[in-house]
Formats: sequence, C-alpha cells, structure tokens
Amino acid sequence: MAKYNRIVLLGPPGSGKGTQGAILAERMGVREISAGELLRAEVKTGSDLGKEIAARIDNGQLVSADLIVRLMTQAFLAPENANGYISDGFPRSIEQAEMLEKVENTPDFENKKIDLALLIDVPDEYILERILGRTQCAKCGAFYHEKFKPTAIAGVCDVCGGKEFVKRADDTEETVVSRLRVYREATAPLIPYYENKGLLVRVDGTGPIDAVSERIKEIVKY
Ligand code: AMP
Repeated sequence: MAKYNRIVLLGPPGSGKGTQGAILAERMGVREISAGELLRAEVKTGSDLGKEIAARIDNGQLVSADLIVRLMTQAFLAPENANGYISDGFPRSIEQAEMLEKVENTPDFENKKIDLALLIDVPDEYILERILGRTQCAKCGAFYHEKFKPTAIAGVCDVCGGKEFVKRADDTEETVVSRLRVYREATAPLIPYYENKGLLVRVDGTGPIDAVSERIKEIVKY
C-alpha cells in the first residue's frame, strides 16, 4: 500500500504534472484524473458548454470554479477511483481548494480526502521550452516532446504507429504567458495553503523524466 493514495499535483504549466502523474498513477495502480483533459473532452463534444470552455482555455484563463469542482469531485467519487487517484491540475486556486474541502466534509467523502499535495518545482526558464516542444499522437493521444521525449522512430508513434501529430491549441507562446500569469496569481498561493495544512511536499522537477519519477517514488513510497 502506498503511503499516499489521493494525491494533488501542483506546479506551473510545463512542470511535468501530466507526464509524472501518468507514471505515478500506473505504478500505484490508480488513475490520473486531469482537469484539463476533462475540459478538453467537453470541448470535443461541440456542446454550448464546450464552446464556453474553449474560449477560456484558448485565452489561458481558468473556467468557473463551480464547473471544475463538480467535474472533478464526480470523478473522485467514481467507483473506479475508490482506491485513490492522482489529480492533475485541480485545485488551481484557493477558491477551488476551499470548495473541494467543503465537499470532502460530506459523508460521501469519508476517508477519501486528499492526503498529499506534491509540488513539482521547475524554474521559469524551463517552462517555455518544455511546453512549446509538446506533441501528441493524433490517433491514440500518446504524448511526446520533440527534445525530451521523442518517438523511437522519427514521425511514428511508439504506441500505435500513427504518423500524424498534433499540438494543443493553447500551447502557443502567447497563451503560455497568460497561463503562467494565472499560475502565479491564482495557483501559486496554494503552496503556502497546503504547507499550512501539513500536506505539501516539494520535488525537484528538473532533469530527465526518469530522474524526476525516481525522486517522486522516494516521496510517495509506492
Ligand atoms: P492543463 O491541461 O492542466 O494545462 O489545463 C489547460 C486549461 O484548462 C487551463 O489553462 C485552463 O484554461 C483550464 N483548466 C484546467 N484545470 C482547471 C481548473 N482546475 N480550474 C479552471 N480551469 C482549468
């Protein structure tokens, strides 16, 4: 049994929350629940709500706290996540963290509160390069990075053999600047917030993917 089962990943955009969250989730035998992925799935449906969400994502702004709290707490309570989960990208503000805590105090959440806020620490100068190099297989969704995680054969997905790659619409230099500002203003205050609650642990997020996941392994002790 891992030392922690319900883990919130904190860190700026491009810090590796998605990559490390997926590795950690697989090793712990739980799912990674990504706030951004849930929102992008809604955008793909083409619904009115999806259109509203897309407008905010494309500007690098946060969607409403009510919406994301509802989506994420529903996922936290889903039967397949009963043994734990890794939350990537939620909460992203003090407002959301306080709303989550309120929900956690309801009977459905008994013994299901988050038990670790893991901050992946990466200095600003790494962020742009990490984000602008990201690509994704158009067919199966596997993530790559042109420099840090290239495909084994150039232009061919390691997982499914797909040959078409896409970038996230919000992975542009302009949107990254706005996402970083939102991170500093809205999300970074969660660091002292979780520190005060005794839930925060920091991990150095620089260096190769494997090195970071080994550091995380030491902390989580799965
Ligand atoms: P991510 O995939 O985590 O980089 O998130 C992409 C975008 O989705 C963000 O820039 C926001 O527009 C939106 N988003 C993701 N998570 C949240 C959240 N917890 N609260 C509000 N908006 C979010």
